[in-house]
Amino acid sequence: MTRKVYNFSAGPAMLPEEVLLQAQAELLDWEQTGMSIMEYGHRTEKFQEMIDRCEADLRELMSIPTDYHVLFIPGGATAQFAMVPINLFGTKASADYIDSGIWSKRAIVEAKRYGDIKVAATLTKKDGLTSIPPEAEWQLNKEACYVHYTPNETIEGIEFDWTPCTDGVPLVADMSSTILSRPVDVSKYGIIYAGAQKNVGQAGITLVIIHRDLLKSAPLPRTPTLYQYQTHAENHSLYNTPPTFSWYITGLMLAWMKRHGGVAKFYEINKRKAGKLYHCIDSMPDFYHSNVHPSCRSLMNVPFSIKDDAKNDIFLEEAQKIGLENLKGHRLAGALRASIYNAMPEAGIDKLVSFMTDFAKKHG
Ligand code: PMP
Repeated sequence: MTRKVYNFSAGPAMLPEEVLLQAQAELLDWEQTGMSIMEYGHRTEKFQEMIDRCEADLRELMSIPTDYHVLFIPGGATAQFAMVPINLFGTKASADYIDSGIWSKRAIVEAKRYGDIKVAATLTKKDGLTSIPPEAEWQLNKEACYVHYTPNETIEGIEFDWTPCTDGVPLVADMSSTILSRPVDVSKYGIIYAGAQKNVGQAGITLVIIHRDLLKSAPLPRTPTLYQYQTHAENHSLYNTPPTFSWYITGLMLAWMKRHGGVAKFYEINKRKAGKLYHCIDSMPDFYHSNVHPSCRSLMNVPFSIKDDAKNDIFLEEAQKIGLENLKGHRLAGALRASIYNAMPEAGIDKLVSFMTDFAKKHG
């Protein structure tokens, strides 16, 4: 790697050097057009080819069945917190939400503006550690319009390694922090959405994978045209001017993933990377601590603390000096966190583990 730092930010997150170098090489002259992609028209044949390739690559990487639309929508995952209820509620304005952390809570607060939201499950404790309650204890309502959950909570570092069973009620997932990090059976979902700035590019564009049946219900009255899934489906995500550069970077990321072995390969690497980091934390229990139960520890976001939290600042300072950036925990959670998306090289984990080991020896 020629870059000087490993960026452990939760998003905008680290991008692969290969992708950045390609974007740099093409910046002034994209595909012999003499123009930058940033200056290039979104209604041109060439741009259309680029976005078709992008969709085809996503479909291939995730084995998306043909009865799903793939939409590229601006507004971040936060816009989806509203778009999901206003588009799905129709005549039945009631939905179940699983509250597994701060991002699901945000989705719940937004959805409550549009209908009757029931929280079917909240986090629990197992062996003194934070854990997802067993599905048998969830209070799911058969009449719900959909069930929403967040398979990976970016802030708390809690991840489902299984897919909930909702008995025919459409399952909606905020996969912002897990998309393309592990295999997923798309056919089990009604909607999957994910902001791109963690595992699939830069901020500005959100991937929405939606089963065609869910486009049938009419959105709530007065829903802005741009907030209707139907608008994006009918216009192939080109109703208005899209964030073209973000879309292009997403295309480069997907092509990069394909070149490097696809989702199965990244999953294998992700398990190894996260495994090394959790092992480091667990092997020094007098110094470091993770409060997430091993059954639901995230492969993408690893929050941890130093038992003596007065040492956090010096940890961050020393880490930064050797090029380990953005290890501070989320402002609502405090402590420390390493976000290790697909683009984080294994060498970045090795360097962090070696730093943490030395730091514990020196300050323990
Ligand atoms: N959901 C999850 C799981 C997230 O991690 C984030 C952002 N960190 C969001 C939603 C909000 O995304 P955005 O800022 O793109 O709206």
